[in-house]
Amino acid sequence: MNDLVDITILGAGPAGLAAAYYAGHRDASVRIIESLEQLGGQVAAVYPEKHVYDVAGHPKVLGTKLVELCAEQGLQYGPDVRLGEEVQTLERLSQNGEEVLAIGTDSGGPYLTRALIITAGHGAFEPRKLGIEGIDDWEGKGIHYFVREKDVFRDRTCVIVGGGDSALDWALGLQDTAKTPIALVHRRDNFRALESSVNEARALEGEGRVRFFTSCEVRELHGDGSLQAVSIENTKTGDVEQVPCEALITLLGFHSHLGAIADWGLELHGKRQLMIDPTTCETTLPGVYAAGDVAGYEGKITLSTIGMGEAAIAANNAGARIRGEKVQPKYSTD
Ligand SMILES: Cc1cc2nc3c(=O)[nH]c(=O)nc-3n(C[C@H](O)[C@H](O)[C@H](O)COP(=O)(O)OP(=O)(O)OC[C@H]3O[C@@H](n4cnc5c(N)ncnc54)[C@H](O)[C@@H]3O)c2cc1C
Repeated sequence: MNDLVDITILGAGPAGLAAAYYAGHRDASVRIIESLEQLGGQVAAVYPEKHVYDVAGHPKVLGTKLVELCAEQGLQYGPDVRLGEEVQTLERLSQNGEEVLAIGTDSGGPYLTRALIITAGHGAFEPRKLGIEGIDDWEGKGIHYFVREKDVFRDRTCVIVGGGDSALDWALGLQDTAKTPIALVHRRDNFRALESSVNEARALEGEGRVRFFTSCEVRELHGDGSLQAVSIENTKTGDVEQVPCEALITLLGFHSHLGAIADWGLELHGKRQLMIDPTTCETTLPGVYAAGDVAGYEGKITLSTIGMGEAAIAANNAGARIRGEKVQPKYSTD
């Protein structure tokens, strides 16, 4: 059912879940729409098994645990949650004499709402893929763009592709899970990752637990039904080696784009953020707010905690606007 709700939240990362909590706390009816099939935004998709140290009240918390806690808090007032739907359109229309917003997604809607809080991060994101013809055919057969659960890689031969922190972190982080040596393929000689991680991996190379393939690229995937090996070419010498591989983990970053949101007539801050008034978190469209990484203003710092604070400002202002009230804090203590 697509009932009219008070506040719709676009994106279920840390900012979206915080906005859902605050909107519910202010007695607003809430709908969350998220393009991924999971809650948690970048924390769940990019670094679920890393520790986070800078969220207030949590001296050290694992990414998955942080998402679990944000979800427990954000969903406690029972919002309508739509996963796997990418928001694409926004229209303003009149219903029973009331001006409302109508939101269309790639597979549902229109979802009617009195206010919208955009917490879309960097936009709906997609992993960057290897430029190998037919690479998509290996999905579900051994190619991975994320490490969500380490156990998926237990006792498997793994080839990790990438030169950044994620690639190095997982070459180290899967040491107690995957079959070793773990192959690490990077198209350059130098890694962008933290020097200490590279040094640690080099030390493991000496123990036969990591195999470095630098100036190398994966050229072909082999297997019958599921992945068994990959061909790796040294781009300096032209030599090609076939390496056993049951799991090819490509950690090449993400493409993310605001997509259709950028065409809604909202003023942008730079190329990738929506301009907001930080005192209310309202965008340049009335009734449309933004918080978290997607919200921009001079001096913005893109961190979870900042987004959570902006979510509180956005939800409190959206709630007050709907009711025609002045924004006042409401304590949550009972
Ligand atoms: C490796 C790494 C480590 C980090 N470490 C820290 C740290 O230690 N501390 C810290 O504070 N921050 C850290 N960050 C940054 C932090 O993760 C982000 O600031 C935070 O996730 C932003 O939250 P958000 O809710 O604004 O956006 P996101 O987490 O990006 O969530 C946005 C959500 O919106 C969805 N979405 C986007 N467009 C659409 C659409 N059109 N329709 C439907 N859904 C859509 C996306 O799928 C996504 O799930 C780190 C980031 C990375 C990549």
